[in-house]
Formats: sequence, C-alpha cells, structure tokens
Amino acid sequence: MARVAIVGGGIAGLSAAYELTQRKIPFILYEASTRLGGIIETTREEGFVMECGPDGWVSEKPWARELCIELGLEEDLIPSNDTERVTYVLRDGTLHAIPSGMRMMVPTDLEALRESKLFSPSAIAAYEQEPQRAQELKDYAESHMAEDESVASFVRRHFGEEVTRTIAAPLLAGVFGGDVERLSAQSVMPQFLAMERTHGSLILGLRERSRPDAKAIFTTLRSGLGTLIDAMTSALPEESIRLQSCVDKIEREGDFWKICAGDASETFDAIFLATPVHRTRSLLASVDAEAAQLLAIGASSAVIVGFGFNAEQAKSFSVPQGFGFLVPPGEEGSDLLAATFSDQKYAGRVPEDGRALRAFFGGNAGERLQGESDGWLIALAKKQLGDVLGCELPDAALTIVRRWPLSLPQYEVGHADRMRRLNERLNVLPGLTLLGNAYRGVGLPDLIRDGREAARQIS
Ligand SMILES: Cc1cc2nc3c(=O)[nH]c(=O)nc-3n(C[C@H](O)[C@H](O)[C@H](O)COP(=O)(O)OP(=O)(O)OC[C@H]3O[C@@H](n4cnc5c(N)ncnc54)[C@H](O)[C@@H]3O)c2cc1C
Repeated sequence: MARVAIVGGGIAGLSAAYELTQRKIPFILYEASTRLGGIIETTREEGFVMECGPDGWVSEKPWARELCIELGLEEDLIPSNDTERVTYVLRDGTLHAIPSGMRMMVPTDLEALRESKLFSPSAIAAYEQEPQRAQELKDYAESHMAEDESVASFVRRHFGEEVTRTIAAPLLAGVFGGDVERLSAQSVMPQFLAMERTHGSLILGLRERSRPDAKAIFTTLRSGLGTLIDAMTSALPEESIRLQSCVDKIEREGDFWKICAGDASETFDAIFLATPVHRTRSLLASVDAEAAQLLAIGASSAVIVGFGFNAEQAKSFSVPQGFGFLVPPGEEGSDLLAATFSDQKYAGRVPEDGRALRAFFGGNAGERLQGESDGWLIALAKKQLGDVLGCELPDAALTIVRRWPLSLPQYEVGHADRMRRLNERLNVLPGLTLLGNAYRGVGLPDLIRDGREAARQIS
C-alpha cells in the first residue's frame, strides 16, 4: 500500500492526514513547529475564547461544517450573530456602516444604499445606473470572456472608482491580503464574473438569485477553532505525527520521494506538500525548476493583536453594534486593515459583560510590523482602536499578539492560467500533490475539501 509523506500540519495537511487515516493509508506528517494547526490557534483563558488566526468560515461552503459533524462537534457549531450584523468602513476617521443588504460590494437594497452615509451622491448614482447599463456590461463580458483582469478594473467598470477604493479594496485585502489593482477577478470573484456574463448588471444578477437564505453568513465553533484541530489530531495515529520536524529537502529517487528532515531521511510513494507557498517553492527548486518558477506567488503578512476585557475593564468604553470595521488603503492615521468586535460577532467569546476586540494589520503595515516587539504592537493596536472608538482603551485581562508572515497568498491576474500550467508541470512529477492556500482557495472550507480530496485520489 502507498506510503505518503505530508509536509506541513496546518489545516490543509491535517485534512489530508485525517482522510488518509479514514482510508487506513499509512502516512507520516512532518510539522516544523511544536504544534499542529498552522495559522489556526485558539487561546482560552479566564473565560475568553480568543482566535489568534481565522475566527470562522463562510457558511455557504459546506466542507468545514461536514468535517465538524463527522468529528462529533455538531453541538459546538455556532452561527455568527447575524441579527447584530453591521460592518463599518473607516473613512476620514469616522465609522460608516456598510448599508444592509450588501453582498460584498453589490447592493441588494438600493433604498438602504440611498440612506447610507458611506458613499457620496456620485457613488450612489453609479450604483443606480448599473442596472441600466446591463446590455453594455454583458456585451463587454462576452467580448472579453477569455481575459483575466484585476478586481479593481472589474469593480470600476460596474460601480466606479469610489466603490472600488472604499469597499472592494478593504474587503478583498482582508481575505486575500492583496492589492485590488493586482488581484485576479477570475480567481477571487468567479461568481460575480458568471453573473456579469449572464445578466450584465451585478445588481440585477443578485436580484435574480436573491432568495431567502436561512444560513448565517459565518459559522464557527463555540469553543474556538482550536477544537477542530484537537479533534482532527486525536483522530490520527500518534506514531504518524512528527512535530518539530522541519523538512529541509525533498528528492526524487526513481519512483519514490525522499524526505530529509534534519539528520533523518525516509522514502515514500507519494508526497503532499502542504507548506506555505514560499516554502513549497524552495523545497521544489532542486526537484523541478520550472514548477518552482510557477510557484513564484507573492504573499502578504499579517499581525493580529487581540484584547479580552473583563466586565470591570469593559465599563470604560463602548463599541458600536456590529462585527467590526474595515479600513480602506490610504486612510490617514491608521495602519489597521480591519478590526473585529469578537464578542458581538460570535457568542461565547467572553466572560459575562466582558468584551473582545481584535486588531488586524495587513498589507504594507503587516509587512513593516513583523519585526516590532509585542509591547510596541500592543500599544499601537490599543491606540489605533481607541482612536476609532473615541476612547482610551484600558489594560486588558488577556492580550495576544501573533505574527503571520507571508500567510496571505496573492491570487494575481493570470492566477488561473498559472495554476493550469503548474498542474501540467506536476503531471511529470507523479506522486507529488501541492496543498495549501496558494492554489484553489484561501478559506478553511476550501482547504479541508482539497486536503481530503487529495487523500481520496491516493486511495
Ligand atoms: C490573520 C488571518 C486570518 C484569517 N481568517 C480567516 C477566516 O476567518 N476564515 C477563513 O476561512 N480563513 C481565514 N484565513 C485564511 C486561513 O486561515 C489560511 O488560508 C489557512 O489557515 C492556511 O492553512 P494551510 O494549512 O494552507 O497553511 P498554514 O496554516 O500556514 O500551515 C502550514 C504549516 O506548515 C508548516 N511548515 C512550514 N514549513 C515547513 C517545513 N519545511 N517542514 C515541515 N513543516 C513546515 C508550518 O509550521 C505550518 O504549521 C485567515 C488567514 C490569516 C493569516
């Protein structure tokens, strides 16, 4: 029976390991750090449940939920508090609510849009005109079908510059860490491209699709996503897991793959590289220069600073209703990309009357701040959150700081074509599979689906 090596114990590698275990296929999972889960990590202390990386997933995609149910975690699944759902955009130092009924940057409720203070009259006029331009937009889509373009160019065509800057840029930077001028519309918003081809207008397309959807927009685990990692880990054979085993080199030996980690080496029939893309690229460089070249995919870095305030501390400030806010690039005086009002987004995050806030630095600031000390980052996050909330934040009962360097790969224009060429190239390297967030989706459900699918293919 095939013996498989998995390199990298984030959610991608773990999902593959879990599925191989289900299928009784022997494997070794190499993880460089002291723990499994990669970017997924939950801190639980004094009644706080603080996520250090992702805090949930998009409910529409079923694969994370399915896995949780399989692992017996159904009771722990909770929806986001959608009755409280408001997201704000920081503009000129003030928080403006994103109008209700927005699906990313596309409105389903033009009345709510007209009442919103987020957009200027000319941006609202651009929204109102978009349905009337349906035929022109459809003709454009038909004549440029095969071409990829940037998210900025796509959004600009429909709604103009202000919408692109104010809402599309921070929304997408939060998920893909990238610059909308470079992100691929084909790869990061295929659903809107399909809508453009069918309806021309995205507003009309959404109206057509709009049906009452009972699902909350996000789902998570009440006890934190760390529980998913723990449950997956418990399902794996202990002897298959090698922590603190950094793979430095991989080699092709006839039909086999040799893995070198420190002084030890072993051979396998198949190998899943589930490392961040820059590591995957360096591991592949000596095996296949062409594949490595195709992996020259940029990634941006993030810094997360989370605060848990107990009831006493939380008395000294207030937070507007909602899930948090986004900061468009170029907003003066703020290095933040986004902030989450964690206790309002999900139940069970704080002890009674407590509060949890999370600051997310990404883009240029995410890069620049990687080398700063914890103390400095905490002070910066506190000051910048306080400035937005109009108060001085007290010292918190719980504070976490996490640096996630090169964690958000950028799906740039041409990404789909690059993936097609990469897959062709991988055909000459039988037994090798690339997993992780640089290829076919960045969200947890996509990575779980992909990891499990790779294991099924082996069997
Ligand atoms: C701040 C932040 C917030 C996010 N929020 C969300 C969210 O709310 N919802 C969502 O769906 N997605 C979110 N994402 C995206 C999602 O978290 C990631 O795409 C996902 O966790 C990546 O998983 P992975 O397994 O591909 O990589 P990783 O989690 O990076 O795991 C890779 C593993 O490989 C190991 N490794 C590296 N090199 C070696 C080596 N040479 N040998 C052995 N092991 C090695 C690393 O130690 C690591 O454990 C967020 C991402 C970030 C950065």
